[in-house]
Amino acid sequence: MKLLLFLLLPLSGLADEPLKLTLPTDNRAIFNGKPEDFYMWVPRHFDGKDSKPWAAGQYGFVRTLVNTNREGIIATKFHEGLDIKPMKRDRNNRPLDIVRTISAGTVVYVNPNSGGSNYGKYIVVEHKWGSGPFYSLYAHLSETSVTEGQQLLGGSTLGKMGYTGQGITRERSHLHLELNLLATENFDDWHEKVLKGKNPHGLYNGMNLIGIDIASLFLAQKNNPDLTIPAFLSGATPYYKVTVPRIRALEIVDRYPWLKKGSHEKPSASWEISFTDSGIPLAVIPSHRMVTGPTISYVRTTRSKHSYHTRKRLTGEGRRASLSKSGLDFISFFTNSHTQE
Ligand SMILES: [Zn+2]
Repeated sequence: MKLLLFLLLPLSGLADEPLKLTLPTDNRAIFNGKPEDFYMWVPRHFDGKDSKPWAAGQYGFVRTLVNTNREGIIATKFHEGLDIKPMKRDRNNRPLDIVRTISAGTVVYVNPNSGGSNYGKYIVVEHKWGSGPFYSLYAHLSETSVTEGQQLLGGSTLGKMGYTGQGITRERSHLHLELNLLATENFDDWHEKVLKGKNPHGLYNGMNLIGIDIASLFLAQKNNPDLTIPAFLSGATPYYKVTVPRIRALEIVDRYPWLKKGSHEKPSASWEISFTDSGIPLAVIPSHRMVTGPTISYVRTTRSKHSYHTRKRLTGEGRRASLSKSGLDFISFFTNSHTQE
């Protein structure tokens, strides 16, 4: 019987479970082809004109327009989640929407204070769907009503929508929703060594969370309820690859075994890690290339500065690219190189 069970499991380990995603508030306009009713607008001042584009509330490179010579006007600032509009407000224009978890999971972090984070009051829920832990994040809440360690069914109440966090007015109250991979289990360590400041949010500091395109995931899951996150990400293309010396196995690969490509058992000089433009890892491949430190071994050739397309993690243009200070920082905690002596 045991043997039979073993044979039924896929080779990667635990069987993937359906994500069973549900929207976190009563706002369902994303499914009705009315994005302008779903996304909260963002004030924009560009080319001498003021506007309030809803598109800037989407996930992705949607903010801070730059007029480039060869690519025209492009948005260079990355937004890691969705800004969802309230459906109900009180007489004083405060939102009344209840915020619920998008799938079953465990509450791993509650920041009950408005200050100390751009997210304001926020909650992180861990989901285990068989392909590693994923973390949904709910920000700018006015109230939180769960505690860390609490296990929740999908659709359970987490708190109430608000406008806590830096730079959000009552008028622009919204829920900021993310779905993330965890970059490292040693983030506290890195923060202490490199940034040196206080890190009250531990592992659930936004820097350590790598957001995926959750709006596209919601829509894709509607058509395919059996969709898994590795399958969803398999459609993404790398923007850059970083080769790092192979000192030991990378912790991220233990957490997300589907990142493993090629034979990791045989010795090799280095690891080559593929990333999307926003820094989502897509693959870790053993490489024979000798490097002494993180080196860009591939970059997509675009016609404007790489910094515009990579959250400023790369510098250079065209076929030339190198890691910026913030790019090196990201690779340092992503690969845990700060823990190597
Ligand atoms: Zn947001």
